[in-house]
Amino acid sequence: MSKTYGDTAQSPRRNCKSRTLLALIAAPLIGLNFGFAQQAKTDGILAATREALQKMVGDTIVNGQAYVYDQYLADDIGPRLTGSAQYMRAADWALRQFQWLGLVNVHLENWIMPAIWEPEVPATGRILVPVEHHLHIYSVGWGPSTPAQGVEGQVVYVPSSDIADLDKQKSQLLGAIALIDDLSFGAAHTVDKTIPAIDHLRALGVKAIIEPGDTNGTENSDTMMNFTGTINGIPEAQLGKEDVLLTKRLLERGPVTMQFSFTNHVRSHVQVPNIVAEIKGSQLPDEPVIVAAHLDSWDPGTGAQDDGTGVAMVMEAARAMMNVHKPPSRTVRFVLLGGEEEGLLGSIAYSTQHTAELPKIDAVLISDSGSESARGWCL
Ligand SMILES: [Zn+2]
Repeated sequence: MSKTYGDTAQSPRRNCKSRTLLALIAAPLIGLNFGFAQQAKTDGILAATREALQKMVGDTIVNGQAYVYDQYLADDIGPRLTGSAQYMRAADWALRQFQWLGLVNVHLENWIMPAIWEPEVPATGRILVPVEHHLHIYSVGWGPSTPAQGVEGQVVYVPSSDIADLDKQKSQLLGAIALIDDLSFGAAHTVDKTIPAIDHLRALGVKAIIEPGDTNGTENSDTMMNFTGTINGIPEAQLGKEDVLLTKRLLERGPVTMQFSFTNHVRSHVQVPNIVAEIKGSQLPDEPVIVAAHLDSWDPGTGAQDDGTGVAMVMEAARAMMNVHKPPSRTVRFVLLGGEEEGLLGSIAYSTQHTAELPKIDAVLISDSGSESARGWCL
């Protein structure tokens, strides 16, 4: 999931395997045993579990496919905006991979995404006053298109997102293009604080909102404006960081007028699949361990890191476990989720569809932190 600001798609790295190994090694500690409870334990781990882990870890080291999986997702499919044609291709690929590996109960679980968003025409923009400058500008995800003639107006910087401070700027902001950045939010820079502030800003009648992306020319889409999967009411855009600094410097000297335009393709109420596959447990098949990641990504990059690495780990864990040729005690359910970047919508849909089953789920392991060295588990 993206941070409040920023969620870059970087190049895949080759240490995906280390995370996969961690998942496999940690698995028996949370109940994913491969033997009977009465069997002898060594260091708290059943002998049969130790043997299975040795096979899985060894197989992953000499025959690991995590990098291959991630490379296919990134290079052969590419960006996977939820509900896009590429997302659907990725879902089909995952389905066939699970089937080819020999997993059971391989299927799609559909849910309804409020809206699907895809950029149609690249954004263009300029500072018009006091001096003309080309802008590095992009539409924020799940935002509407600009009017055909674009958005044009005076830029007003928002130094504080506190509701009372926003209200003090009310007359300035009406009909203006509001510029916000990290300093606008200060220490309260978390989603649960920024979303209400942005909502309040919209209600003050601004024409559009602009926020910093990454360095000029580096797109960095995110949905910090929303997290509901619906389309925002007014055009919202990212500016390159240097462009934001330029705009703020110009604002210190006087009024700044800006113009920008972009076209986004939007579809409403679209069916989107999560992908599910299982290795049936031999002892406790109704008490599953869920191993999951999110299949969707943003569009500026290929989602190789976020969350291609997580998908690769899930797939590699399934592959390595199947190569043990002995079922674990509990069912292991592999789930690839959509709609994560728009507000955890796929996992919420999964939880809703499986409400009755939730008390029996033994553990849920989700990877969504990229391929850096594993430092532990986030609860
Ligand atoms: Zn993510």
